[in-house]
Amino acid sequence: MSTNTKYIFVTGGVTSSLGKGIIAASLAKLLQARGFTVTIQKLDPYINIDPGTLNPYEHGECYVTDDGAETDLDLGHYERFLNVRTSQANNVTTGRIYQSVIEKERKGEFLGKTVQVIPHITDEIKNRIKLLGKTGQYQFVITEIGGTVGDIESLPYIEAVRQLKWEMGTDCTVLHLTLLPYLATSGELKTKPTQHSVKLLLEYGVQPDILVCRSEHEISKEIRKKIALFCNVSPDAVIEALDASTIYEVPLLMEQEKLDEIVLKKLHVNGLPDIHLEKWKNFLNKFHNPQREVTIGLVGKYVELKESYKSIAEAFIHAGAVNDCKVTVDWIHSESLTEENIDEKFMGLQAILVAPGFGNRGIEGKISAIKYARENNVPFLGICLGMQCAVIEFARNVLGLKDAHSREMNPATNSPVIDLLEAQKNISHMGGTMRLGSYPCKIEEGTLAYKIYGKTDINERHRHRYEFNNEYTKKYIEAGMILSGINPDAGLGEIVEIPAHPFFIGVQFHPEYKSTVENPHPLFVSFVKAALN
Ligand code: GLN
Repeated sequence: MSTNTKYIFVTGGVTSSLGKGIIAASLAKLLQARGFTVTIQKLDPYINIDPGTLNPYEHGECYVTDDGAETDLDLGHYERFLNVRTSQANNVTTGRIYQSVIEKERKGEFLGKTVQVIPHITDEIKNRIKLLGKTGQYQFVITEIGGTVGDIESLPYIEAVRQLKWEMGTDCTVLHLTLLPYLATSGELKTKPTQHSVKLLLEYGVQPDILVCRSEHEISKEIRKKIALFCNVSPDAVIEALDASTIYEVPLLMEQEKLDEIVLKKLHVNGLPDIHLEKWKNFLNKFHNPQREVTIGLVGKYVELKESYKSIAEAFIHAGAVNDCKVTVDWIHSESLTEENIDEKFMGLQAILVAPGFGNRGIEGKISAIKYARENNVPFLGICLGMQCAVIEFARNVLGLKDAHSREMNPATNSPVIDLLEAQKNISHMGGTMRLGSYPCKIEEGTLAYKIYGKTDINERHRHRYEFNNEYTKKYIEAGMILSGINPDAGLGEIVEIPAHPFFIGVQFHPEYKSTVENPHPLFVSFVKAALN
């Protein structure tokens, strides 16, 4: 293979939500399984600088990388599939592109020229695409273009792809994902929307090399030939993507369809190294053949939109497989919980997780859930706001500080057991200013956290402004809640637990971001194990 980095672009047509991210991640997995180094990048055509300021209802979960980037949830899939870390460079929005072009303009870097979408915005997009290749770490960079072809917003991206295809020749290929709708009345798969979407791409000067066609029914040879003919692609480059029972099946479906082989062919990579998917298949085998089952309650305020807790749901899948068990998540709306109905709502749950979040809505329901878990010896895991709620619950019901709260919810509380981080006090902008990304944490030996991690030094990812108030540490320890993990530099309490309880742990960080198929997170693995007991 030539030493040049090869670029694969993934565009989407016909409709949104076809699963470009999963197709990109699956292709990456196959290339990785053949021994190549791969990374995936997502370009998002919206104006926000990043999704950090977006409500989860808008865009699902905000995923956080080691380097503290607040990113699209597709990056979570990339990491979970590849077991390779992503960074800020893996997610770029139109807002970020314009911000850097405008900054350059203000610095006078364009030497008096009129600054325009072409070439200045498109050049900036191209630079961002090539950035990952330039690190020298990857043989393949897969770039997923968000949105659907034909959107006004994605035009500059498609233009950048056109230019790169022209410049890079055989080092670059375009994969277009479309939908073949099935008309039940005539019993047919229809190819016209695909033809139109390819025509649209052609209008912009981009000829896709490979078509991945989402479909609920098998695509016959005839239909493949027809699509090939109308869309100028070779018949072996028309790939069928049937609905899968789990996203983790998709790499295998794509392997059967030889997606990776056709990609390598289009990129003029000679020879086909053997594929090693043993670990992946082993995971799938366990996933499909659980010996046991547990039901875990996930208490949050965005439960009607499960995309908001994507990484947590996936971490349970990984942890379930390790434990040979199927984890059923019971999504419980925190606003619907009261002290009165909690016994009934929690009947049949083997463990309770209280989710991350922001703001006051549903907070009392979360606190009630924790009281229930604490008093009834139900395994409990609190993540970020979930951990903060555990601290508040303990203050109110064990320490007797009746008005204890986080200053986020009640700035006037007399018992601010959760308080604003010192570094957050003078912040005026909301975007990108939280305590973000990976920080070290020192775990105390002999604690539950130590038992879970099996070591004292860990790194975990954060996304918060508030924190355990160390003025109360002594009171908590005396009453039976300990700080078992502390940030060694700032002395911040990162993990709380109740040693007298069989499994009660709250973490200020987000373990779910680091759980992958090949490296399930120990906290989730142990939590599921505790639920099984
Ligand atoms: N709202 C809380 C804070 O800012 C918790 C954030 C979270 O759960 N990610 O500290």
